[in-house]
Amino acid sequence: MAIQTQNPATEEIIKTFEPHSDAQVDLAIAKSVVAHQELRNWPIEERAKHMRAAAKILRDEAEGLAKIITLEMGKTYLAAIAEVKKCAVGAEYYADKASEHLSDEIVKTEAKKSYRKYLPLGPVLAVMPWNYPIWQVIRFAAPALMAGNTGLLKHASNVPQCALYIEDIFKRAGFPDGAFQTLLVGGAKVERILRDERVRAATLTGSEPAGASVASICGEEIKPTVLELGGSDAFIIMPSADIEKAVETGTTARTQNNGQSCIAAKRFFVHTDIYEDVKARMKASFEALKVGDPMKKDTDIGPLVNKGSYEEISAQVDNALKDGAIRVTGAEKRGGKGFFFTPGILENISKDSKAYHEEIFGPVALLFKVQNLDEAITIANSSPFGLSSAIFTNEADEQEKAINELEAGGTFVNAMSGSNPHLPFGGIKRSGYGRELAAEGIRAFCNIKTVYIA
Ligand code: NAP
Repeated sequence: MAIQTQNPATEEIIKTFEPHSDAQVDLAIAKSVVAHQELRNWPIEERAKHMRAAAKILRDEAEGLAKIITLEMGKTYLAAIAEVKKCAVGAEYYADKASEHLSDEIVKTEAKKSYRKYLPLGPVLAVMPWNYPIWQVIRFAAPALMAGNTGLLKHASNVPQCALYIEDIFKRAGFPDGAFQTLLVGGAKVERILRDERVRAATLTGSEPAGASVASICGEEIKPTVLELGGSDAFIIMPSADIEKAVETGTTARTQNNGQSCIAAKRFFVHTDIYEDVKARMKASFEALKVGDPMKKDTDIGPLVNKGSYEEISAQVDNALKDGAIRVTGAEKRGGKGFFFTPGILENISKDSKAYHEEIFGPVALLFKVQNLDEAITIANSSPFGLSSAIFTNEADEQEKAINELEAGGTFVNAMSGSNPHLPFGGIKRSGYGRELAAEGIRAFCNIKTVYIA
């Protein structure tokens, strides 16, 4: 895949970048090693000072950076500004909390003193996707650098300007030269980097095949990995719910980021008693969304990221319809220039249809009518994925049952799934393993050393 900026709203190729050569990559890894030696010896407060400086740059430059995000991947400008501001919050979270998460933990044993100590590992490769092109990177980079690791970013090939901007932010924030570097390389070059013994660990956010490839190479190399992969999250609505709030939240949960979010609500399980009401309200809510120029402030939905995705989602919808699904509204190409796809809803999804099990990474909601919560949970758990989940109900026993029985890395009650620096984030089953954010996120790439002093 060429490393280039293509505006998905106009299909215009804006800029193409020369990929880094193997020699350039090797030099970057060497710099990363040297930077790690320096950063690991910085007191944590020194690291925090520079992480706060990075947060300030993100806040000060949110509008300019947001324009680049929208240009490269098509999310609305307002959503892009919100993303950059969230990154500032994430960076500040780790500036404030790293010392607490990484302080020695005394454990009483027969020793004079014994404790857990959190030490950095060294250079970590981060393979990242384009859908939240700054947030996905910051949620890796902020804890990694605060722990004293260094970062090598292999970003998605369609967001090179975002990738270079992030490198520049950490440079300007005063981190050691080489502490965070962008490698402009395609996916095919990842294996060579992973096999380099100087690279100590890897994290990948993206699709299952990419995750499986990185994990198997790292398995051979015996290197730790964190994988944040796809999802097909359940969103359950029960009769006791505030239906208006559930529909409004569900619409946002399915369509935000132009429908391209891993933790989007993708499958809606609605109790039979309220099914027709919910369907009618969701239809109205989806039809009210304005599709168009993502730079305009009154646009709700911009284009899909690229032609491949546009064709793939359209084919997924066509296949589901062929298998008996019914179109409630939308879910079709808008036509004309740009990869615009109308947000839509399908119902009556056949169990034998691929759509029943696969992830649709675009603004298409699948509606399922269920007789009770048990049925909702059974179908929800039949998915190979287990990223997050949500339920709208005001019955305490239903809330408890969903929390206990939904097979997912998170359950949100009367709210949509989201990521929050204070809480761990990650999935189970084919959605990946390991956790980002919170204490788990910063400890993921630490040597949790046992210290025993007799
Ligand atoms: P993708 O194709 O897997 O791309 C993600 C990253 O992996 C890119 O940097 C890509 O590089 C690289 N890559 C692709 N194939 C690779 C391989 N064989 N070896 C090494 N690296 C490889 O993912 P996508 O389709 O763009 O992103 C959408 C997917 O990501 C969805 O499934 C979504 O649910 C998931 N996602 C998950 C999370 C989460 O937190 N769980 C968050 C966001 C997205 P190139 O661009 O150069 O190909």
